[in-house]
Amino acid sequence: MWKRQKIPEEERTRKRVRRESSWKENVRKKLKEKDKEYTSKKGVLKKAKELKTPCNCRMKCNTKISQAQRKSLFENFYLLSRDAQDQYIAETIKESEKQRERVQRRKESEEVHKESRRNFTRKYYLSKEDRQSVEVWKKIYHNSFDLTLKKIRVITEKKRRSE
Ligand SMILES: [Zn+2]
Repeated sequence: MWKRQKIPEEERTRKRVRRESSWKENVRKKLKEKDKEYTSKKGVLKKAKELKTPCNCRMKCNTKISQAQRKSLFENFYLLSRDAQDQYIAETIKESEKQRERVQRRKESEEVHKESRRNFTRKYYLSKEDRQSVEVWKKIYHNSFDLTLKKIRVITEKKRRSE
């Protein structure tokens, strides 16, 4: 006759709780990686990434790139790893210092001050079916990958530092 090994109730509960919380954490990480909707640790619902509407600006981005191509860019972007996504953004946004600022910087003393608030203009590029890139307005760029301004700022600043 065998004896069942008795596990104290307290220990059993603790184990179960621990296992569940690490499982939840894993699910959250997986969803975050895949850019699907998930609830953050603090309980904030994070929306899934989605292809957003194009802009309706003077640059006529609508006529430069098709909706089908934007969809394909979006889908391919989210198949990339996080690092590759950042790399892609860094490569498709071109920054240049604003001309006006450079002219204004005359005195050496002024330069230090100006340096801390340099102004940059950004150009945004999307690639078409034929792999040629077209310059588009920032809104359609942001919306094609559902990016936030903050994310773009972080990436372009990092790129600037590395140059
Ligand atoms: Zn536009």
